Amino acid sequence: MLSVEDALGRVLSVHLPVRTETVPLSEALDRVLAEPVLATLPLPPWDNSAMDGYALRAADTERGQARQEQPDCEYDGPRPAPGVALRVSEVIGAGRASSAALSPGTCARIMTGAPLPPGADAVVMQENTQVEADGLVRILGIARPGQHVRRAGEDVQAGETVLTAGQRLSPGRLGLCAALGKDAVVVARRPRVAILATGDELVPPGQPLAPGQIWSSNTASLLGLVREAGGQPIDCGIAGDSREGTRAAIRAVLDSEPDLLVTTGGVSVGDFDVVKQAFADVGADMAFWKIAMKPGKPLAFGVVGGVPVFGLPGNPVASSVCFLQFVRPVLRRALGDPRPYLAVVDAVLADRVSKRPGRAELVRVRLELHGGRLEAHLAGGQGSGNAASMAAANGLLLLSANSGGAAPGDRVAVQIFDPDALHGADPQYRWGGRPASP
Ligand code: AMP
Ligand code: MG
Repeated sequence: MLSVEDALGRVLSVHLPVRTETVPLSEALDRVLAEPVLATLPLPPWDNSAMDGYALRAADTERGQARQEQPDCEYDGPRPAPGVALRVSEVIGAGRASSAALSPGTCARIMTGAPLPPGADAVVMQENTQVEADGLVRILGIARPGQHVRRAGEDVQAGETVLTAGQRLSPGRLGLCAALGKDAVVVARRPRVAILATGDELVPPGQPLAPGQIWSSNTASLLGLVREAGGQPIDCGIAGDSREGTRAAIRAVLDSEPDLLVTTGGVSVGDFDVVKQAFADVGADMAFWKIAMKPGKPLAFGVVGGVPVFGLPGNPVASSVCFLQFVRPVLRRALGDPRPYLAVVDAVLADRVSKRPGRAELVRVRLELHGGRLEAHLAGGQGSGNAASMAAANGLLLLSANSGGAAPGDRVAVQIFDPDALHGADPQYRWGGRPASP
């Protein structure tokens, strides 16, 4: 039987073009950039103050120091006040430009983010000054040139590539785009993924069940998985178990020109498993029908008229697991993501997992953070129809084909499929309770 690696290699030998569209920045969260973002201006755009205080010439503050250091053994009168008193020439708030260059011996009251007046080379924070009478302020201590000044271009230089194609637009990246004046970005179009369930027993949730029927839960999971991966799911409903009906349904779906087609059920060896024949009927060039993976052995993959088609197994967990391993990377690549795979982390296994060598196995686990360390706990029954353990899990423990299982305490590789997996898992692991860094 085909190994997981070989199957993935065949799936990824099909390349979908990255199509692009321009979207407003306000709707671009989590979209994938299709073009690099270049800085058309430096950030900050001009020298500005990092503090509320006074902009001045650093050299002026050395005068005050020199005066205090004068030997005064002949003199027993009052000592001069420390520092130097400078005349305040203007007040510059954020959002205003200075009206004139700063003359020597003067300073400007300045607020955080306000442009530095020409001539000034340092800012003294308000806490190190004393306001005096007659429009003077006393500067305590010596200012170092450049102190509390945010230099033009110290964050980003004009012409720099700040974001590259293939990067997801996180809130931080959206902020960077906005700081550079962008109100729209060129992103990869969401691939349209058609989802067709098959099975005479299936009914959409919300409709009553006749004896022997069940609700199509795979459709709900796959709609979510497609959306989470950045695709645009299209629910194409449920086809029955006849070859003709399934063929007609697949034809109709392909006529709507999806980027990918995903079916579930009907790919096994049962009497009514007609999806393979239906794919053949519509002229699909099938690359494989079966892989050495558990859950998910009956996985079919091929191409029809340039559209990759996946026949996922019907068992709910097998369908989701196959999606994560094979459909998701294709989808992410069609978004231009250079790293289309789910993250795999090292975790310490908490339970025993038995397995016979033969097929690769993906075991549903719940990753937990304890003192910053990841533990993997079995998420429940591992039957390929056990939807509850899939709902409880946030990771898949990866056991290779030749593995003979794993024991408590073993370090294991776990693929994280739920991005919320590691959030807020360990209230003790905060600043206060954190072990000191070496
Ligand atoms: P099949 O591969 O069609 O033989 O289906 C295997 C098992 O998965 C059967 O128990 C089906 O009832 C179940 N199944 C198939 N499709 C779905 C679906 N869309 N939602 C929930 N269960 C399904
Ligand atoms: Mg079926």
